[in-house]
Amino acid sequence: MAKGPLEVIGEALEEYWTNPLSLVVLFACLAVIGTLVYVFLSNARNAKLRVSLLTGLYSVSTFLWLFIAASLTLCLSFASTVAYKRAWGVPAAVGCAVLVSFALSGVVSVVAWRRGADRVLRDIPTRAPEGEERWLTDYVALVSEFEGIPPVDLRVTEDEKPLAMAVSGRRHVVIVSTGLLAHLDRDEAEGVVTHELMHIKNHDSRFKVFSTVASRFLFFDPFSKFFDPAVHREREYLADEMSGRTTGKPGSLASALLKIHERANGGPSSLAGLSIVGREGGIFSRFPPVKERISRLIVLSELLHRSP
Ligand SMILES: [Zn+2]
Repeated sequence: MAKGPLEVIGEALEEYWTNPLSLVVLFACLAVIGTLVYVFLSNARNAKLRVSLLTGLYSVSTFLWLFIAASLTLCLSFASTVAYKRAWGVPAAVGCAVLVSFALSGVVSVVAWRRGADRVLRDIPTRAPEGEERWLTDYVALVSEFEGIPPVDLRVTEDEKPLAMAVSGRRHVVIVSTGLLAHLDRDEAEGVVTHELMHIKNHDSRFKVFSTVASRFLFFDPFSKFFDPAVHREREYLADEMSGRTTGKPGSLASALLKIHERANGGPSSLAGLSIVGREGGIFSRFPPVKERISRLIVLSELLHRSP
């Protein structure tokens, strides 16, 4: 009696997932994820390390899901073919699944990195700084040179809301709104602009666009639901801290954050996740609580200004 299609697929899946090679790939991914989670949880205050760990977690979990999806697709497609039944069928399928996962991750990255930024920049009408705003261009050039950041274009957008964001595509752009410049004094504006420049230095401006596209693509992934916002929260703390150290005035950034938080009722939804302050929502929010950001900046300010 011939086997039914379900039986054939069941056998193929069993053969695939009991093969040492596929199990090695699967458990290697899980072991890496477990290790990264452990080191992450045991380094609560090390923002720089946690940022790298979370970025790694994000990549490994993306790869893991693509590998599982590719494996299942291959099993279903080739279950009834003769090649699968031969000794090299399963190893070949595992090899294919690994290659397909790498290739797909690559395609997602290229599309996100090339197109994402251009799209954001197209959505926001901007102009060059005029009149009294011109100091911003010189300031950005100065900080970029000191920090070794590639040339950054500073653009102004006409908007009453206090907005600031960094976007990286073929070029690096920092956008500030007229509302932001109107309500902040010069020290505060410097703190905010430096915070955005640090996002460019840390490659966050690219990563944000990339992960937004990737998490839409992997909407079912529990890791990206939890770890992706966590990565962004850590990156905010890091950019705050680096801005405070560079300007030497973390207190000014703290007061800027407070002013922006009081005036902004969330940015436009298409830009969610890119602005300096955004909606707070616990572990699923891309922004850390403003209160915590301010209190960390005040501690940094006390540290920097301690008299001997
Ligand atoms: Zn930021």
